[in-house]
Amino acid sequence: MRKKIVAGNWKMNGTQEEGQKLTSEIVNMVKDERVTDVTVVINPPFVHASNVKKLIGDTPNIFLGGQNCSDKESGAYTGETSAKILASFGASYVIIGHSERREYFKESNEELTAKVQQALANGLVPIFCCGEPLEIREAGTHEEYVKEQLTASLFGLSEEDFAKIVVAYEPIWAIGTGKTASSDQAQDMHAAIRTHLASKYGKIADETSILYGGSCKPDNAQEIFSKADVDGGLIGGASLKSRDFVDIIKSF
Ligand code: PEP
Repeated sequence: MRKKIVAGNWKMNGTQEEGQKLTSEIVNMVKDERVTDVTVVINPPFVHASNVKKLIGDTPNIFLGGQNCSDKESGAYTGETSAKILASFGASYVIIGHSERREYFKESNEELTAKVQQALANGLVPIFCCGEPLEIREAGTHEEYVKEQLTASLFGLSEEDFAKIVVAYEPIWAIGTGKTASSDQAQDMHAAIRTHLASKYGKIADETSILYGGSCKPDNAQEIFSKADVDGGLIGGASLKSRDFVDIIKSF
């Protein structure tokens, strides 16, 4: 049985107070509403890590994650945060290769490969993002584009390491735009991704959780999550509203 996962990506949002309020509300709702069968990951900006971890406490199905980590182990890299530091604050997951990092910070496939390795070496589960821009979708070459992203950054992993990876398919044209991929578009891509992963890793790919991301909201999550190869979501905007985020978590 593949793990059902809903991860919230706060991006660069939330003061200390807002982050604490949001986390407490999510934790309380998940507990009060007895949501136990979904793995929930909260990915705040790094400086929130301690607060968020404390507020999660011993809730068994809620985890702290990072939005990024360095491709280096440690050293003179001002402004960077290593996977080791993140893990020492109690993080369990880290988003790697989000399209905003690829675009605005020019993260290359080689860097992303190193980030995945750093994450794994420090016991973090990489949530590896892939997804095509609008012009690639319109040209009809989105499958090849995404397969290439996966091959470039993941196919050097051992089977043991690959088994720990979570993949997030996020069509760039659907991120923060209010334009969601249809559930069929999501399913087609998730199935293509799984087939591609299986071409290298065989049956392990059957156990890989593949999350959908891109304007996922309480009113479309159920339809998207009902698809056979969609194992949850990576949620941006809607993860900043506790009620919306928990309603998405409850959409399986
Ligand atoms: C994201 O940035 O990962 C994302 C899916 O954002 P949104 O839900 O706001 O489209």
